[in-house]
Amino acid sequence: MTDSIKNILIVGGGSAGWITAAFLNRFLDPARCSITLVESETVGTIGVGEATVPPLVPLLRMLGIAEDDFLRQCHATYKLGIKFIDWNRGGQVDGKDEIWHPFGSIGAPLIENLPLFHLWLRDKRAGVDDSRYTDYSLQALLGEMDRAPRSMKEESIVTQQGAYAYHLDARAFADYLSRLSIGRGVRHITDDVTAVPLDARGFIRYVDTVDHGKLGADLYIDCTGFAALLIEKALADPHVDWSNHLFCDRAVVMPLPREGAMPPYTQATALSAGWAWKIPLSHRTGSGYVYSSRFVSDDAAARELIAHTGMNPDDAAPAKIHMKVGRRSNFWVKNCLSIGLSAGFLEPLESTGLFLIQKGVELLLDHFPDTQFNGTLIRSYNAQMGSEYEQVRDFIVLHYLLNRREDSEFWKANREAAPPGSLASTLDFYQETGLLDWSNPTLFREPSFYAIASGFGRLPRTYHAMADQVDVAKSRASLAQVKVKNLALARSLPDHRALIEAINSPRR
Ligand SMILES: Cc1cc2nc3c(=O)[nH]c(=O)nc-3n(C[C@H](O)[C@H](O)[C@H](O)COP(=O)(O)OP(=O)(O)OC[C@H]3O[C@@H](n4cnc5c(N)ncnc54)[C@H](O)[C@@H]3O)c2cc1C
Repeated sequence: MTDSIKNILIVGGGSAGWITAAFLNRFLDPARCSITLVESETVGTIGVGEATVPPLVPLLRMLGIAEDDFLRQCHATYKLGIKFIDWNRGGQVDGKDEIWHPFGSIGAPLIENLPLFHLWLRDKRAGVDDSRYTDYSLQALLGEMDRAPRSMKEESIVTQQGAYAYHLDARAFADYLSRLSIGRGVRHITDDVTAVPLDARGFIRYVDTVDHGKLGADLYIDCTGFAALLIEKALADPHVDWSNHLFCDRAVVMPLPREGAMPPYTQATALSAGWAWKIPLSHRTGSGYVYSSRFVSDDAAARELIAHTGMNPDDAAPAKIHMKVGRRSNFWVKNCLSIGLSAGFLEPLESTGLFLIQKGVELLLDHFPDTQFNGTLIRSYNAQMGSEYEQVRDFIVLHYLLNRREDSEFWKANREAAPPGSLASTLDFYQETGLLDWSNPTLFREPSFYAIASGFGRLPRTYHAMADQVDVAKSRASLAQVKVKNLALARSLPDHRALIEAINSPRR
C-alpha cells in the first residue's frame, strides 16, 4: 500500500501526547507505521487532570495495564462519582447541601421494564418516598461509607461492570505511559519545536526543532496543549469560544498533604465565583479552585482556596492557570489532528479532559486515513468530535444553570445566562416527559442527567405513562430491595483507604 501512513509524529508529551502514543502503538502494526513523540524540556505540561471517568478503565485494560501496578505507580485511588457540595442553595441556607453524581446505573437498568427513575418519581409525587434518586445508587452508598469497589482478591459487580474510575497523579500517569510506550517501541525525542512550515497545498511539511533539525511525518498530531502550535499557529484553525456558556477561565491549584479520610469520590464545593475540587490520592490530596476572572481577582481566589482548605496562608502558594474555554472549529485539518488541550477545553467539573483525549484517538483509529486524506473521513471525524464536546459542555452547563444560590453575582449570572439551544431543548423535553432527547450519548447517560437535575430539585411534570401499569406495592418492594442489596454489598467490601494502603504495601 504505497499510500499508507508510515509514520506519525506526536508533538507534546503531556497526558494527551502519551495517551495518544500508547494507544496508537497498541493498535497500529509497528512494522508498517512508526510513532515518534517530541516534547519540550523547557515548556512544561499543565500538570493537572487528576480525576477521571469510567471509560479510562477499559482503556487501561486494552493497553494491557495491570490495575494494581497502575494504582501504585500513579498514586491512584478509586473514584465512584462526584459529590457536589453547596451547589444548590449553599449550605448556609438549608444546612446540608449535597448532590451526588455517582457512576453506573442506579438500581437495575430496568425494573418492571422501566428505569428506576420513573417508579421513584411516581412514589415521590404520591408522597410515599422521601429518598433522593441517588439514594438508590450503589456507588453513592459506597462513597458515603468510604468503601472500595473491590477487595484485595475479589472483584465486585462495580468492577465487573467497569462502573468506576480513578483519581491519579497526572504527572506520574504521563510518566507511566511514556515508559510503557517507549518500552514498546515509540521513539522519544526531547527538543523544542520552533517552526511548522506548510507546503503549497497547506499541509504540514515538517516541524523544525532546535537540536534534531527537521522532523517529517505522514500524519502530525498536535498535543501541545493550550499553545496549539500546529493546528492553530501553523494551520490557522479558529478557536470556538464558549466563555458565554462556561464562565470559569482561571484556576489556582495547590497540593495538600494526605488527609485522614480517603473518600472514593471527588468533592466539588461551590465557592463565591466557581468551585473547588478535592481529590484524594494515595500520597497527597489534590486541590484547586476553578473560577471566573470576571467575578473574582486572582489574589482573592487564592485567598479563598487557602481559607477553604484550612491551610496556613504562610505555607500556601497556589499556582495560577489560565484556561481557554471552547473547542476547535476543526479538530482535524489536512495532515494534522489536535488532541488534548490543543483541541479544546471544557472546565474540569465532570473530569472529562482525559476522556476527550481517549475519544479523539479512538475515533482516529475508526477514521484512519491514508496519505490521500480523504475529505469524508475528516468531515466525519470533526462532526463526531464536535458532538462529543457539545454533549459534555451541555452536561457541565446544566450544573450551573440549575443552581439556586443567592449569595453571589457569579451564581446569579450563571442561572440567568441563556443555555446552549441543545441543552434548552433537552430540559424542555425532560420537563414534559421525564425522558431525554439525547441522540447517541457516549459518556453521560440518563442516570447522570437524572442525578443532577433531580439533585437540584428539577423534576419533570410527569413520570413515564407505563409507570401506572406497575402495581404500587410491587414497585415499592422492588425499590426497597435495591437499597437492601446495595447495603449488603457495601458492607461486604473493604474500607477504601485500607485497600489502597494494602495495594501500596511494600510487603506485597
Ligand atoms: C485546572 C484544570 C484542571 C483539570 N482537571 C482535570 C481532571 O480532573 N480530569 C481530566 O480528565 N482533565 C482535567 N483537566 C484537563 C487535563 O489537564 C488535560 O486534558 C490533559 O492534561 C491534557 O493536557 P495536554 O497534554 O493536552 O497539554 P499539556 O499538559 O499542556 O502538554 C503540552 C505538551 O506540549 C509540549 N510543548 C508545548 N510547546 C512545545 C514546543 N514548542 N516544542 C515541543 N513541545 C512543546 C509541552 O512540553 C508538553 O509536553 C484539567 C485542566 C485544567 C486546566
